[in-house]
Amino acid sequence: MFKALLLEQQEGTTSASISEIDEALLPEGDVTVKVSYSSLNYKDGLAVTGTGKIIRQFPMVPGIDFAGEVVQSADPRYQAGDKVILTGWGVGETHWGGMAELARVKGDWLVPMPVNCDAATAMLIGTAGLTAMLCVQAIVDAKITPDAGEVLVTGASGGVGSTAVALLAKLGYQVTACSGRLEKNGPLLTALGASQLLDRTELAAPSRPLEKQRWAAVVDTVGDQPLATALAQMNYGGVAAICGLAAGYNLPTTVMPFILRGVSLLGIDSVYCPRDKRIAAWTRILELLPASFFEQAGTEISLEQVPQYAADIVQGAVTGRTLIKVQ
Ligand code: NAP
Repeated sequence: MFKALLLEQQEGTTSASISEIDEALLPEGDVTVKVSYSSLNYKDGLAVTGTGKIIRQFPMVPGIDFAGEVVQSADPRYQAGDKVILTGWGVGETHWGGMAELARVKGDWLVPMPVNCDAATAMLIGTAGLTAMLCVQAIVDAKITPDAGEVLVTGASGGVGSTAVALLAKLGYQVTACSGRLEKNGPLLTALGASQLLDRTELAAPSRPLEKQRWAAVVDTVGDQPLATALAQMNYGGVAAICGLAAGYNLPTTVMPFILRGVSLLGIDSVYCPRDKRIAAWTRILELLPASFFEQAGTEISLEQVPQYAADIVQGAVTGRTLIKVQ
């Protein structure tokens, strides 16, 4: 038997409870992992609270991320005792996930633990950190250099946003952190490397199709009007790496920034990111993130605390990364 957070649904209402589950019920897969840590992402919040339609088959063990040790493997790339990381691939959505003492997954979905990393560090990074790194890499690959001007990060207090602020600052970019909670989180964002702070309300109003040029690049985690306003304010040739929808999935923009200023919109997905790109991103994150990031931007919780924190993350009330100690 193993302990897990189990989601069940009755008459359209999702409930989450700690349960003891028989190992025989683990899903199909070629590698079984003893999970040490998982993490709480916005998508986990939606899944655990039953907000949105993240999960369609119940019962489900949530947790889109985990890190732990292989206990059994039919995949020749992994042996018992190997330390591994999993993020994405629909785990915690369509396949039982990381908020459990045991998980069974496909070997193809795993990343070997980098030598300079442990399970707790890996989960402080998690899907959010990987996504932040993919956004930052897209900006670097688009040849937007630190001397090009300010880089805006929206939803800056969140997991993706706070990690993006730290990664961009480490690479020498001038970072403007946009947040709805500057009074509480302004000092943290400055400590992570933001050189300017912008209140969320400044991007909230509908914009003209083109406004004064302000941003060389954008890492957007929120979508909707704040992204549309940021696009209208982009410098000629600017690049927006977009990954999230915390404000909404609409994008009330016009073609003007794209056809008159040559702005590029780059969509970022971490869930099905190919393995080689994923491994390269993990290596780069660990090279770039300073040790102070993990002390400043992380909170550790237990499996039992997940439902409360899940409600908080959906309300936009969680700061930085939330690490879940499983065992
Ligand atoms: P998170 O920790 O909850 O951060 C989201 C942040 O967005 C909040 O901390 C808040 O920051 C801001 N926010 C919340 N509600 C808002 C609203 N109504 N209007 C404007 N801003 C709002 O979530 P996360 O894990 O970082 O994920 C961020 C987004 O990226 C989510 O939409 C998630 O689904 C998406 N995501 C996508 C991928 C991918 O592969 N494409 C991967 C990971 C995450 P402030 O308080 O600072 O304003």
